[in-house]
Amino acid sequence: MSSSSAELFARAQKRIPGGVNSPVRAFRDLGGEPFFVERAEGSRVWTVDDRELIDYVGSWGPAILGHAHPKIVSAVCDAAQRGVSFGIPNPFEVELAELICAWMPAIEKVRMVNSGTEAAMSCLRLARGFTKRDIVIKFAGCYHGHADSLLVKAGSGALTHGQPDSAGVPKAIAEKTVVAPFNNIDAVRTAFRENNDQIACVILEPIPANAGLFFPREDFLHHLREESSRNGALLIFDEVMTGFRIARGGAQQLYGIQPDLTALGKVIGGGLPVGAFGGRVDIMDCLSPDGPVYQAGTLSGNPLAMAAGLAQLRELERINGWKLLEQLGADLAERIGDAFSKTALTFHRIGSMFCLFFTNGPVIDLDSARRSDTQRFAKFFHACLERGIYFAPSQFETNFISTAHSDADIEETARVVRETLAKL
Ligand SMILES: *Cc1c(COP(=O)(O)O)cnc(C)c1O
Repeated sequence: MSSSSAELFARAQKRIPGGVNSPVRAFRDLGGEPFFVERAEGSRVWTVDDRELIDYVGSWGPAILGHAHPKIVSAVCDAAQRGVSFGIPNPFEVELAELICAWMPAIEKVRMVNSGTEAAMSCLRLARGFTKRDIVIKFAGCYHGHADSLLVKAGSGALTHGQPDSAGVPKAIAEKTVVAPFNNIDAVRTAFRENNDQIACVILEPIPANAGLFFPREDFLHHLREESSRNGALLIFDEVMTGFRIARGGAQQLYGIQPDLTALGKVIGGGLPVGAFGGRVDIMDCLSPDGPVYQAGTLSGNPLAMAAGLAQLRELERINGWKLLEQLGADLAERIGDAFSKTALTFHRIGSMFCLFFTNGPVIDLDSARRSDTQRFAKFFHACLERGIYFAPSQFETNFISTAHSDADIEETARVVRETLAKL
């Protein structure tokens, strides 16, 4: 009685907008149709059509230990047997909060939510409530989930008050967000000058990983820290992607920066729906019930989600996952390195995150990432998929290695990439 991906997608399209519950899953930039997953384990997913794939999407980041890790599965089962949700405080919430604060010292208090979107959205409200200011600075190409104030793109011109990046986002809200090019500190300084004493916060992905993957220039983050403090604005790191993936203390540890607030998600939930936000205690204490900034959630701190997150983070530390991930990433880069020299390609990697842009570098911001040849990317993607390697289904996404990827997986992947690029 099993259905094929094609049958399921036909049914899905009748009852789910676009047939998917998150747009990038629809493969719209690529042509072709998405496949459906029957099960996943370790580095592999098996489709309902009985295909086995080496997966570099990893649920878009959470699956840092690979799929269906036994420790996470058993933590979730154990918790479930004692009740799947209470809406009453449970011990796992305290343990995860303590662990997050210990690993990211800039977080003195933390609140759990159910997604990265909620985490970033709550950071914004808190920053506005704390500073009693309304304007937000964000960067083109940084994604922070789909809250109205953050679904904003740059207008024409280097630095403008934002335009809605989606129908349904009121212009009046978009105008409260100033969009600057990433890595451009002069634009940020101008924004502060032109909006004197009105800027509540600067929010960014310290390592942007939602428009492909690119990196902050040396000093950019330090300058942001300085400018924010000097102007009485909060600095918010959105580490939903990088948090606990890039290092035990996230990108803020790597670059030695203390943000005022941090948004987390993905890895901290072990694959269950979790987000969190935290930071300086004087700011966090503005949240209800202690303070005037309202924020709440029926399922926030859910015991299954907390148990899964704790199990994942503890296992990651136990095996020193970050070292292993760096080795696997370095191995992959080394094995495919010279395949990139021939054509217009730019390979970016940090630890277990990587992206192959189909353009000559340097890629330093959204504009340079957009020069990529998305048709060549689509060909590359489908050719790899046909040969059993599932990369992120868009040029403007990042791939993830998990600790479950074996040396043989990496070797096979490198072979497929080299051969595919040679024929492209
Ligand atoms: C994925 C992501 C989000 C949104 O998280 P959801 O759980 O999808 O709502 C926010 N910020 C960054 C940096 C992300 O990568």
